[in-house]
Amino acid sequence: MNDLISYMKKTLGECECGAVHFPLTVEKIAIGEHAVENEMPAFIKASFKSVAIVCDETTGRIAGERLASLLQETAEVSLVKLEANAAGDVTADERTLVKALIDAPVDADALIAAGAGTIHDIVRFCAYQRSIPFISVPTAPSVDGFTSAGAPLILNGTKQTIQTSAPVALFADIELLRNAPQNMIAAGFGDMLGKITSLADWEISRSLADEPYCPTASAITRKALDQCLSRIDDIAAKSREGIEKLMESLIVSGLVMLMLDHSRPASGGEHHLSHYLEMKALENNRRQILHGAKVGCASIMLADVYRSLKDRDFGDEHVAKTVRSVYEKLPGGEEMAEWMRKVGGPVSFADLDVDEPLLMEAMARAHNLRDRYTGLAIMNQYGLLPDAGQHVKHERG
Ligand SMILES: [Zn+2]
Ligand SMILES: [Zn+2]
Repeated sequence: MNDLISYMKKTLGECECGAVHFPLTVEKIAIGEHAVENEMPAFIKASFKSVAIVCDETTGRIAGERLASLLQETAEVSLVKLEANAAGDVTADERTLVKALIDAPVDADALIAAGAGTIHDIVRFCAYQRSIPFISVPTAPSVDGFTSAGAPLILNGTKQTIQTSAPVALFADIELLRNAPQNMIAAGFGDMLGKITSLADWEISRSLADEPYCPTASAITRKALDQCLSRIDDIAAKSREGIEKLMESLIVSGLVMLMLDHSRPASGGEHHLSHYLEMKALENNRRQILHGAKVGCASIMLADVYRSLKDRDFGDEHVAKTVRSVYEKLPGGEEMAEWMRKVGGPVSFADLDVDEPLLMEAMARAHNLRDRYTGLAIMNQYGLLPDAGQHVKHERG
């Protein structure tokens, strides 16, 4: 997958499944050692006169400031530093969005997101509001949403996804990404691990709810997942190759969603559980847990729960057969937990301090968050939710 854009155009762009596949609007994706230093100045120089780099305290130190001095010969550069809230998080809420809009000079003709997921969400919203493009410089391989067009924002205390636009370019600098904290690398691996259950849920929604399905998109996402699974030791060791493959997989997963204009291949019951827990943490003013950490733990737990559905009575042979054939292919939760332990990530909700009552509540309600059929929805529909005490069982390694 040397050139991701042509790879995606060649595969998904030429797919004949009948569903609409949107052309990629991302002009450049550079992944590699010193990708920022080697490739970004020329890209900026060719198109922009004045850019604003948006970061927070930490990503400013590790990337923003260096980027500012790197680009100052090429364009007018300003550095916008966002502040954390009382809980210690930079949040994509009204306060931070307005601060970013005020601090980015009005004559900036592009914004640069130097940070992880939340900084990207803030920047993609602000760039869209200003009708200017944005450029992505991820500082951690923590999530598959860097190239996404949707910005999940916290408005009026609740999370809402606002449609904005995707970045025009992404520069993934492997040296920078290798220095990301281990928990953020593990979170990126967790977001990829989640594809195990999301891809299965997509097959379920295709067969039992007639939801749109594209076999090519499913195969590409599966390939990205397999690439991570075959490189677990390299990812755990933070080797150049391992981090490059993890980042590449996350970007591919993101580009698939962008071309489909929906997130079905990458987001199933495990993501719904994660979204539910995130909303609860917001409501209770608790510090947020990394997205990929929640997704990874949810996928590990659901793999076992979904597999146990094969022996259940649905009173409908078609449903029973579909559920059996899709979910019996899933790996066991313990095997997935072992993969996650290798990269140093959390493997159960107990590790994340999510207690049993809250988890049971999420299992019973999270499927209502999205109009999408998943194993979680099936269990609720047929009254097959597992009992308390069966979830929090994988011990931290
Ligand atoms: Zn995700
Ligand atoms: Zn297709």
